[in-house]
Amino acid sequence: VRRIGILTSGGDSPGMNAAIRAVTRVGLNSGLEVFGIYNGYKGMVEGYIEPLTRETVGEIVNRGGTVLGSARLPEFKDIEVRKKAIHQLKKRGIEAVVVIGGDGSYRGALSLTEMGINCIGLPGTIDNDITCTDYTIGFQTALETVVEAIDKLRDTSNSHHRCSIVEVMGNRCGDLALWSGIACGAEIIVTSETGFDEEDVLDRLRDLDLIRKKKHAIVVISEKITDVDQFAKKVSLNTGFSGRATVLGHIQRGGSPCPFDRLLASQMGEKAVDLLMQGIGGQCICIRNNEIVAIPIEKALSMPQESRKPLMNLFERLV
Ligand code: ATP
Repeated sequence: VRRIGILTSGGDSPGMNAAIRAVTRVGLNSGLEVFGIYNGYKGMVEGYIEPLTRETVGEIVNRGGTVLGSARLPEFKDIEVRKKAIHQLKKRGIEAVVVIGGDGSYRGALSLTEMGINCIGLPGTIDNDITCTDYTIGFQTALETVVEAIDKLRDTSNSHHRCSIVEVMGNRCGDLALWSGIACGAEIIVTSETGFDEEDVLDRLRDLDLIRKKKHAIVVISEKITDVDQFAKKVSLNTGFSGRATVLGHIQRGGSPCPFDRLLASQMGEKAVDLLMQGIGGQCICIRNNEIVAIPIEKALSMPQESRKPLMNLFERLV
C-alpha cells in the first residue's frame, strides 16, 4: 500500500481532528502518501480529494469538529454510486481508506472493502453507541459538556423549586444520560434501557418534593424517548415542582476534545494505519479493557448493546 485516504462521515464529534492528524502523520512517517477525502462519502463520489501534509494537519489536535467536513449520502448504499467512488480513488492511486464515523459509516466501509478497497473504521461519535468499543471518540468530551450544563441548571433549579428535565443525545444509547446523571447527582435517569413510565416518574417526583423535601430535582433523559416540553408541563401540573425542559442539542457535539479523546483518537489512528499497511481491511478499531484492538466490522455491527445494569444499580444506590 502506498496511498491511503481518510474521511469523516455521519455526525461529527470532538476528537475527529486528532484522528485525522494521527492517521496523516503516522502514514507519512511510515512512507505512505495520505489523501483527505472531504465531506464523507459524498466527497469520495464527487472526487473532492486532496493530499494531506504534516502542515495541513497542524494546529488541529485541539479543535472540535472535523477539518475534512462530514456529510450524509444515503445513495452510497447503491452499488453503482460506490463504483463511482472507487473510480475516483483508483484515478488517484488510493488503495485503502480510514473511515471515521458511526455504524452507518462502518456499513459503507465494509461495502467498499468487499469491492476491493480495504477500509478500517474508527468510532467517531459522541453517542457511544458502537457496542464493540468501550468508548467512542468524542464521548468523554460530550460528557464533560453535558455535566457542565447540568451543574449550571442545578444552581438555578435549586433557587426556584424547579424540576429540570434535561434531554441529552445518545441516539438510542443511554450512556450519555447515565454517565452524566451519575456524575451530576441527578434524581432520575431515563434511557431506552430503563424505559419511560411517566406515572412512575411523576410519583417519584412527588415523593422527592413531599417526603424528601428536596428543593429541586434533575431528570436526565435520553433523546428520542418522549417530548420533554410536554412532560415538563405534566410535572408542573402533577407535582409540587415547576417543570422546565432543556434540550441540550448540538452544543454536545462541539468544543475542544478532552485529553482522553485526543489520546484515544491518536492511538486508534495509529492502529488503523498499521493494519492498512499489512493489507488488512474490513475491520474497526476498538478500545476494550484499556487495549486498542481491531475486530471485523461485520462482527461489530451485529453485537447487541451491552446492558448497563451495574451502573444503573449504582445510580439507584446513590439517590
Ligand atoms: P452517527 O450515527 O454518529 O451520525 P453514522 O455513521 O451512523 O454516524 P449515518 O448517517 O448512519 O451516520 O451513515 C453515514 C453515511 O454512511 C451515510 O450517509 C451513507 O453515506 C453511508 N452508509 C450508511 N449506511 C450504509 C450502507 N448500508 N451501505 C453503504 N453506505 C452506508
